[in-house]
Amino acid sequence: MSDIYDQATDQEMMDRDLAIKAARSQNQPMKFTSHCKYCEEHIDRGHFCNSECREDFEKMKKMKHLSGRK
Ligand SMILES: [Zn+2]
Repeated sequence: MSDIYDQATDQEMMDRDLAIKAARSQNQPMKFTSHCKYCEEHIDRGHFCNSECREDFEKMKKMKHLSGRK
C-alpha cells in the first residue's frame, strides 16, 4: 500500500518539476537584437517596433505552439 502511494507521489513530483521547467523556459527573457521580432524593422530598444507587432508575434507563437501538438 505504501509502495503505491510512494510511486504516485514521485510521479506527481516529476510532473510538477517538468511543468515548472516548461514554464521557466517559456519565460526566459528574449535577447535584444535591435530588430523587431515580428517584422524585423530596426528598433533602438525592446523587442518590437510597436504593440501591434508584439500582439501579432504572440499570436503567431501561440499558433505555432498549438500546431506543434500532435
Ligand atoms: Zn515590427
